[in-house]
Amino acid sequence: MTAQDSARKSEFAGQDKNPSHILPHKLTMDSKIRFHCHPGVSCFTECCGHINIILTPFDIIGLRKRIGIDSDEFLLRYTKPVYIQKTDMPGVQIHLTKEGRCPFVTEEGCLIYSDRPSACRYYPVGMADFHEGTQEEQDTEKFFFLVKEDYCKGHEEDKVWTIREWLADQELEKRDELNKGWMELVMRRKSFGYQATLSEQAQKMFFMATTNMEQFRDFIFNSSFLHTYVVAEETLEKIKEDDIALLQFSYLYLASSLFGTNDLKIREQKVKERTREMAAKRGNAEENAKKVYDELQRDKEMMQKRLAEKNKAV
Ligand code: SF4
Ligand code: SF4
Repeated sequence: MTAQDSARKSEFAGQDKNPSHILPHKLTMDSKIRFHCHPGVSCFTECCGHINIILTPFDIIGLRKRIGIDSDEFLLRYTKPVYIQKTDMPGVQIHLTKEGRCPFVTEEGCLIYSDRPSACRYYPVGMADFHEGTQEEQDTEKFFFLVKEDYCKGHEEDKVWTIREWLADQELEKRDELNKGWMELVMRRKSFGYQATLSEQAQKMFFMATTNMEQFRDFIFNSSFLHTYVVAEETLEKIKEDDIALLQFSYLYLASSLFGTNDLKIREQKVKERTREMAAKRGNAEENAKKVYDELQRDKEMMQKRLAEKNKAV
């Protein structure tokens, strides 16, 4: 079993770093680490408790399917809400038992091992950050670090890996690719800082579109969504059934609705309606302002008249 404590150290998991356990060396894809985790280690499953494991959208899809329940039930039973990477973007983390253990751990190991979350797979490697930009820029900026805790005996084993080999062994490249749109949204939000907070409605939409594919699908097909956005028939066919395709679509939708990108096209008719609404609002505002001005003018004239009459009487 590979462990997950990087979840409590890496930015990926949205947790504060604990510098005393992070080795102060920047690692690249070709750096080497010595580590091996297997059921024979004396610390087996010790790392599956007292941790914060943020779930990525792809983790949620895999886990709820593995357990055989819908997203509503999965979120309710196994997760608790959290804000991701010190932003106002909501997500979830695994809800630990009252003993502080992961609900999926047993003495034999992880019950859902082949679907374990990305945070569990990364350990003992942490990824320092995620950046927007081209793939080349992202790869140059990306670096890793090693988390080394006293209780983890995996570091005393002989097996040596490059970071590249570790990520491949843990199937992280594919998973990171599927979560990339989500990470980019979080990083983009983070770069805005606290000056611009997301509205409650925007937060709810982000939460739904990244944690609950059934609800998001219902929103697309049973609301005015398709009257507003242009979506190719081929895409519609895919997202009707396929959660992964729907997740990728949710990234485009969120980027365009929260950050105003042009990833999704709004229907011409809607643009016209919106322009008319705005013009009407502007028109109303001008009309209201004129009314107020006229009333003030009338009051002023009346006051002047009264003053003149008073002066005459004196
Ligand atoms: S999901 Fe599995 S590997 Fe991750 S903390 Fe829980 S039991 Fe451990
Ligand atoms: S070796 Fe480390 S990662 Fe593996 S079970 Fe022990 S504490 Fe967890």
